[in-house]
Amino acid sequence: MLKSKTFVKKTRSGGVMKIVREHYLRDDIWCGSEFCVECKHDSTVLQKEAVIESDLCSSPHYIIPDTNVVLHQIDILEDPLIKNVIVLQTVLQEIRHRSAPVYKRIKDVIHTAAKHFYTFTNEHHRETFIEREQGESANDRNDRAIRTAAQWYSEHLKKAPDAQDLKIILLTNDKANKQKAEECAGIITLRYADIIVHRLLAVAIGADCTDPDLLDKHKRSALCNNLNYRHKMAQYAQRASVALHTQLFFKSRGVLNEEGFILFVRKNAIIVLIPKFGLEGTVFFESKDKITPPLTFNEEGPTLTVQNHTFHLFDRVKVTISLDSSNIQHQKIRMSIIEPVIPGVSVDPPEMEPQTKKARLNP
Ligand SMILES: [Zn+2]
Repeated sequence: MLKSKTFVKKTRSGGVMKIVREHYLRDDIWCGSEFCVECKHDSTVLQKEAVIESDLCSSPHYIIPDTNVVLHQIDILEDPLIKNVIVLQTVLQEIRHRSAPVYKRIKDVIHTAAKHFYTFTNEHHRETFIEREQGESANDRNDRAIRTAAQWYSEHLKKAPDAQDLKIILLTNDKANKQKAEECAGIITLRYADIIVHRLLAVAIGADCTDPDLLDKHKRSALCNNLNYRHKMAQYAQRASVALHTQLFFKSRGVLNEEGFILFVRKNAIIVLIPKFGLEGTVFFESKDKITPPLTFNEEGPTLTVQNHTFHLFDRVKVTISLDSSNIQHQKIRMSIIEPVIPGVSVDPPEMEPQTKKARLNP
């Protein structure tokens, strides 16, 4: 089966390149488990005796780690006691992009026969390949691909006569991913803030001892909720801090006139990147106090036609940047279009105030 996808990409030199990506899906990719009687594999990697001596999970289990778990817990995964791990192609590809050293280490583990780490090429398997949905981020799509593969394993091995007690454990730190995975039947997920995963794995392989409280399910759960709460608050604080400093920066500069490029085209707006400041902002063509000009959005492009002008991705535009402090509790960076000139929509370029500063430097 062949799936092909065509898209255009703008090159660095400004040209446009057409890319056709072909994707072959196969039905001869095996699960690699000793339990399986359905797959036609010659040799298997994942064992029947897949039990780690620990209190955490006493029945046989195969572990599917997500990308972050591999990235941050590679030293634990390398331990000789951790065996029978399914490394998904999706995870491998993400690791290759994010960390060359970890990629090399996980490849070494996979090549160590005694570790029983099995690479499952889920991106080429007819039943586990998924397309990215509209509006879905690459990250979310990959998380979904990981859940799909975990669910496939669970259902696939359920058919094996001896695998009744076998459990597929999806190891993730991501809250949303865990919740979604639990909606799929048959997958057990483990998720704790990084350090807890690390400690528990260390305890599981006997490399560390731990407070008995950590092995208590309810106490552990409360601890994790607290860790996640703090993590979320730290993220909010970080974002608020970036927003505050961006606003302070533009507050002192009045209205600026800058060149930018269109990053995204939406139904009623364009999102513009100003390379000079690394700033992204939105130019809305709809507002409460103005009559909305005729807008035509074309999803295929995507393009947005405002009056008689059509905006495309990567178009060069000129915008004004200013701080809107009309609502003191919700100050916002505002952008308006200067060029291209669209009657009734675009604004006049502002007087260049920063020039006066320069003059002061040369008395
Ligand atoms: Zn199989």
